[in-house]
Amino acid sequence: MPSRRIEDLHPKAQQLARMLLADCESKLGVTFLITSTLRLFEEQAALYAIGRTEQLGRAPVTKSKPGHSWHEYGLAFDGVPLIGGKAVYTDDKLFDEIGGLGQEIGLRWGGDAGFVAAHMVDKPHFQYNCGMTTDDALALYQNGGMAAVWAEIDRRDSEN
Ligand SMILES: [Zn+2]
Repeated sequence: MPSRRIEDLHPKAQQLARMLLADCESKLGVTFLITSTLRLFEEQAALYAIGRTEQLGRAPVTKSKPGHSWHEYGLAFDGVPLIGGKAVYTDDKLFDEIGGLGQEIGLRWGGDAGFVAAHMVDKPHFQYNCGMTTDDALALYQNGGMAAVWAEIDRRDSEN
């Protein structure tokens, strides 16, 4: 099972996720429920297979091959607004407002033009990658594991 624990994210990503939750409550009056944080490489592989080699009746749910999703590095999370206690994925305007709040605090949002051009529209998705590419992250990971990826994020973060 992929994690939905904020504590599994990089510390800065945790901090930004908590800020986003607080901003959703205070500025929009909605609860934003985190539905996915850290994902293992094999869990990403299983998602990538949907609509390609598994569950052929479904559309693909991700363009990210294993090693190419920020979820695998603890630097991305997905969420959904709760309205009356129910997860609502169909309110585009509300997702856009939440996306805007995320962008204001420095998160890359799955609805922003650059993200959409490279991937697909993924409005529940937020990431904190400090301008790194997943190729960079994968190379670091293969040599030094998660610690190497997180150290590079820390280095880039301290330059901002
Ligand atoms: Zn995501």
